[in-house]
Amino acid sequence: MKPIELSFEFFPPKTQEGVDKLRASRAQLAKLSPKFVSVTFGAGGSTQQGTLDTVLEMAAEGFEAAPHLSCIGSSKESLRAILGAYREHGIRHIVALRGDLPSGMGEVGELRYASELVAFIRQEHGDWFHIEVAAYPEFHPQARSPRADLENFARKVKAGANAAITQYFFNADAYFEFIDETKKLGVDVPITPGIMPITNFSQLMRFSDMCGAEVPKWIARRLESYGDDRESIRAFGLDVVTGLCRRLVDEGAPGLHFYTLNGAAATKTICERLGFGKA
Ligand code: FAD
Repeated sequence: MKPIELSFEFFPPKTQEGVDKLRASRAQLAKLSPKFVSVTFGAGGSTQQGTLDTVLEMAAEGFEAAPHLSCIGSSKESLRAILGAYREHGIRHIVALRGDLPSGMGEVGELRYASELVAFIRQEHGDWFHIEVAAYPEFHPQARSPRADLENFARKVKAGANAAITQYFFNADAYFEFIDETKKLGVDVPITPGIMPITNFSQLMRFSDMCGAEVPKWIARRLESYGDDRESIRAFGLDVVTGLCRRLVDEGAPGLHFYTLNGAAATKTICERLGFGKA
């Protein structure tokens, strides 16, 4: 398998047990030499300190650590303070998002879309940050139309994004079609597929429902048929996701970004099966 860049996404843990689990996971995944690791951010700033603490801990361990930052529900002043803190600590890589506010809660804030956040970061910090944005091969659930969503993606890149990470998907054709369509709009930044390892059927269906990712019927029905047989779910999930990754890499994806959910086992096995690292 040709060499590609791997990256791993984590969320800031809320308990000491969670902190310990994350430390153990990233110690295992470090052996795969990721290009960077990223840490999610709760919209409206709910995980602000946790994201900063986790990013700094990872950076101190030698990882290139990229915090996520969402603008919805935030003032420019608070975003400015967060960006300033990252810069002060030497962080140079960031994932810029709009985020989602829990329904009926709070004000939208001063920046409505990720494209505005990207422009704000460029305006305030020039080229200091390498900026990633989100991409949606199956389209964002709130998009007016697929075309409008593609145009929004192009707008984020035009505003100054260097690269993108996709929402997870299980249909490789959607990814390649998205790449072709963005090229037609003149977008030429690396778009790395986001990969969700399958380990739990109900959790997967819940997440997919929320973010608009399609779980193909043949996958859902197979997973459902295993009931509580976690070993079969795990084995089938590893086969499906490894096959997806293999096709993506073979056909030109620049990297793979794993949504680890702070676990290492599934991501590590998939990467090993693909022949990456010796974790
Ligand atoms: P945007 O690019 O702003 O798009 C949001 C919607 O608005 C789209 O439907 C778009 O088509 C539409 N739109 C954009 N501009 C306009 C315009 N000018 N006029 C009309 N419509 C427009 N969420 C978190 O809260 N924290 C995280 O850490 C986090 N990490 C993520 C990481 C990745 C890789 C991905 C793919 C998603 C992540 N999310 C995270 C989820 C993300 O915040 C949600 O999907 C959110 O709903 C959209 O964010 P966005 O940055 O894609 O928004």
